[in-house]
Amino acid sequence: MKDCIFCKIVKGDIPKEFKYEDDVLLAFDDINPAAPIHLLVIPKDHIADFFEVDDEKIFLAITKALRHLIEKTGLKDKGYRIEVNGGGSQDVFHLHFHLYGPRKRGQVH
Ligand code: 5GP
Ligand code: ZN
Repeated sequence: MKDCIFCKIVKGDIPKEFKYEDDVLLAFDDINPAAPIHLLVIPKDHIADFFEVDDEKIFLAITKALRHLIEKTGLKDKGYRIEVNGGGSQDVFHLHFHLYGPRKRGQVH
């Protein structure tokens, strides 16, 4: 979608090191990290909101990508948090899953 910052990243208009890629998803570092590790996992297609996902393949791919990234970043036994903002609470209207860590119990991020 034109004027969508994450679609520009998918198209390569904004250079970005990808931490994970498959046929439907990409992952990269958040530009303004809220934790020592703060990754965003996004669908390559423009999907504005969590409720707009209409293909189960995306959910399976997201689970696989998040597990892969949690293991790759060493967060599996250091604590992590997965977050989706939606329903108008998001700043970027292209679906993204935040992955934060390391994280202790009760910590905000
Ligand atoms: P939201 O509130 O929509 O869940 O969060 C959007 C996230 O996208 C924020 O954490 C923000 O830092 C991140 N972000 C916004 N623009 C860019 C960008 O151009 N590049 C990257 N890597 N992250 C971005
Ligand atoms: Zn988009």
